[in-house]
Amino acid sequence: MLQELVQMESPSDDKTAVNAAVRLLAEVAASFGGRAKTHKQKHFGDVLEVRFGPVRGGGKPVLLLGHLDTVWPLGTLRTMPWREAGGRFYGPGVFDMKAGVVMALAAVRVLEEVGTGRPLILLLTSDEEVGSPSSRRITERLALGAAAVLVLEPAQGLACKTARKGVGEYRMEVTGVASHSGVDFERGHSAVLELARLLRKVEGFTDLRVGRTVNPGVIGGGTRSNVVAEKAWAAVDVRIARASDAAKVEQLFGGLRCEDKRCSLKVMGGMNRPPMERGTGTVALYKKARRLAAELGFELNEAATGGGSDGNFTAALGIPTLDGLGAVGEGAHADHESILIEHLVPRTALLAALIANL
Ligand SMILES: [Zn+2]
Repeated sequence: MLQELVQMESPSDDKTAVNAAVRLLAEVAASFGGRAKTHKQKHFGDVLEVRFGPVRGGGKPVLLLGHLDTVWPLGTLRTMPWREAGGRFYGPGVFDMKAGVVMALAAVRVLEEVGTGRPLILLLTSDEEVGSPSSRRITERLALGAAAVLVLEPAQGLACKTARKGVGEYRMEVTGVASHSGVDFERGHSAVLELARLLRKVEGFTDLRVGRTVNPGVIGGGTRSNVVAEKAWAAVDVRIARASDAAKVEQLFGGLRCEDKRCSLKVMGGMNRPPMERGTGTVALYKKARRLAAELGFELNEAATGGGSDGNFTAALGIPTLDGLGAVGEGAHADHESILIEHLVPRTALLAALIANL
C-alpha cells in the first residue's frame, strides 16, 4: 500500500495528481467499512473525509489528520525512486507523510475488526505543504466536534510532537526613484539600499528568548547595475512560539519606516498558522500515549518543533492535539527522504491502542 501510494506522485500544485491519490485512499478505506466523503476543491486537490465506527452514539469522534500532497514535483520518481535498502523505505513523500497515512489506515482497519464502538474520522488534506488555504476550514470544523486530534505527521527523531511554532509570511516591497547611475546619480533613491537598511531592522525582530525567529529568506530588486533601483522586495518567514506574540509581530512590521523619505514601503502578508502550544489537553494525550508505548515495549518522548502542520489549527481551537504520531525516519523535503521500517508496526500498534483508549 505504501509503495503504491509513494509511486503515485502528488505535488500540492497538481490537482489531478493529488486527486488520484484521494480516490485510491477512498477506495481502500471503503473496502473495510469506511464511509468516504470527498470535499471537492477548486484550486487544490480534494479533501477526503472518511468516517468509521457507529453512525450514532459512541461519544465525540476522534479525528485522525494527515495530508496526501507532497513537496515533490511530478517526475521526481525518476531520480528518487521507491526503494528498500538498509532497513529503510525511500521515495518522495514516504516520510512526509505517506507512511503516516498508511499507518492510520492500518490502525483503523484493526479497530474496525475489533469494534471499539468509538466514531472515528480520518481526514486527508491535499494542500498542507502550501499552508492549507482551502482545507483549513474543513479541518477546523471537524476538529471542533472531536474529542481529540491525532496527527500522523512524521515523528521528531523518536519523539512525538506536543508543540509547534506558528508560521507567518510577510512580503516587503520598497519603491524608490530610478535614475542613471552615471548621469543622474544624485536624483536616484535606491530601493535596494533602502531594503538593505530595513532588513537590518527586521533582523532585530528575532527574539530567541520568546521563541520568535524572523528570516528574510528571499530578496530581489533592481534591473541593472547602472540603474539606481526603483523596486526591491523581500519574502520573510516568521515563527512564533506563543499565540500572544502574533500581535507583537504585526506591530513590528507595521512600525517599519523608510529612512530615505523618497522611498516608500508596502508590507503584505501575516501569520497563517497559529502556534500549537503545549496545552493541558495535549499533555494528557501525550501521557496516555507514553504509557501505552511503554506497555508495547518502547519509550515515547515528546518534542517541540519550529515546523507547522494542520495540528496547529486544531490545537489553537483548544482541541487536545497530539502530533508526530506517524513514521520514524529522516529527510523530509530532502532527497534522502526515508523511513525506518522497524518502527512501522510498533507505532501503528501505538496509534491503534491510543484510539482505543481515548
Ligand atoms: Zn507533512
